[in-house]
Amino acid sequence: MTNNELWQAVLGEMELSISKASFTTWFKNTFIQTLQKDKIVVAVPNIFAKEWLEKKYKQRILDSVRHHFPAVNSLLCVIETEEKDSSKSIDSIVTRSPEKPKQSSKIAPPSSRPSVDNNLNNRYMFENFVVGANNELAFAACQSISETPGTNYNPLFIYGGVGLGKTHLLQSTGNSAIKNNPSLRVRYLSMERFTNELVDAIQKSKAKEFKNNYIDLDILILDDVQFLAGKEKTQEEFFHVFESLYQHGKQIILSSDRAPKSIPTLEDRLRSRFEGGMMADVGKPDLETRVAIIGKKLLEKQFELDNEIIEYLAQHIYHNVRELEGALNKIIVTYQLRNTNPSLSDVVDMTKDVISVNRQQELTPKKILKSVADFYDVKIDEIFSRCRKKKVVKPRQVAIYLMRKDINLSFPDIGQTIGGRDHSTAIYAFEKIEKEIENNSILEDQLKFIREKFIDY
Ligand code: ADP
Ligand code: MG
Repeated sequence: MTNNELWQAVLGEMELSISKASFTTWFKNTFIQTLQKDKIVVAVPNIFAKEWLEKKYKQRILDSVRHHFPAVNSLLCVIETEEKDSSKSIDSIVTRSPEKPKQSSKIAPPSSRPSVDNNLNNRYMFENFVVGANNELAFAACQSISETPGTNYNPLFIYGGVGLGKTHLLQSTGNSAIKNNPSLRVRYLSMERFTNELVDAIQKSKAKEFKNNYIDLDILILDDVQFLAGKEKTQEEFFHVFESLYQHGKQIILSSDRAPKSIPTLEDRLRSRFEGGMMADVGKPDLETRVAIIGKKLLEKQFELDNEIIEYLAQHIYHNVRELEGALNKIIVTYQLRNTNPSLSDVVDMTKDVISVNRQQELTPKKILKSVADFYDVKIDEIFSRCRKKKVVKPRQVAIYLMRKDINLSFPDIGQTIGGRDHSTAIYAFEKIEKEIENNSILEDQLKFIREKFIDY
């Protein structure tokens, strides 16, 4: 078995066990550099892939390698950008759009090209973005793009609900890319603005100039592309701009409030282009991440709040970061003026409107149970029962885990909710799932899916 054959076998297994987005992100352009008796060295295109493979997928890769070479017990990743033999590339097994150009960056050297108004706001930086489980994939892809645009993840399509950091990530990518290479021609704009410019150009018979403004870019960042829905002419013009940039190995980054398949009346050819690159979703931050976000914002504004206030805000405002930030800003502005710090009851009072809206959509143990039961196709009564069959034990443990993690229910309360069990049962189940997630990204993906369903109930 050659190294190439072995790696194809490993990739085949990985592809079945993790999501397509993760697979494409982390395993694209990887290959075995050397294989010794007990050690495998894998070449990866960048530091992010190195970290993920070594941290998250190490065990699984090793397990898979050992099916063929049982003595291998250690894995190391090295960064190697140019692959000598392209037949080893993952592209041979990942289905991609047919016109895929050679993915090498064609960023022109600094030249006399006129500079472009990049339209970026430097308030948005990677440094002030908090990374949590809800956005780590999108964040890593953006960071990688900012270092080597047009090479690995093209196009990048980030999607998720409002106020969850999409614009922040897109703008940070542009800002950071320019910092890394000031000669890059980057343009950020919303799809709405793109459409308005297009309409304007058509009215003034300047459609050609319009297109020329775009195809000369190194990185095009388009925010809120769901705006394309139902706009045939814009879709057509955008398709040509997209193709031209893509064929020349230029980077395209897109965001949307939903996945391409859920944008109504999006032309098939555009949908397949969007889906043919890297797709990463951003979800709602968990409690820990919300606490970290508040902490970071306070540090930026050089304002202090008691821990109990931070906890209170993080626990009660969880739908989106924009709301959390809004509530925090209101508190900071008010109390900076007064030159004092608020008490918890001041904060409770000040935030009662936004919190009552959050409450109406509040996540409850019942919603969690329903979502889990549906996903595993068991009855809620079975989760409550004493049944010890695997089919029921797993959903029970997952429900316990989510009640602790997402609504911070105490272990005794969880025990009660889940059919009058002892709190030690709840602790055991929580820890078991927590540990399992570390080594099992299938479970992680399943949890994501279950969480997405919460809102439907
Ligand atoms: P979206 O584009 O998804 O609607 P934004 O990027 O506009 O959301 O984010 C809303 C606000 O929340 C912005 O001010 C942004 O800086 C902030 N924000 C969102 N996510 C994070 C995060 N993970 N860390 C720090 N700030 C965040
Ligand atoms: Mg936005």
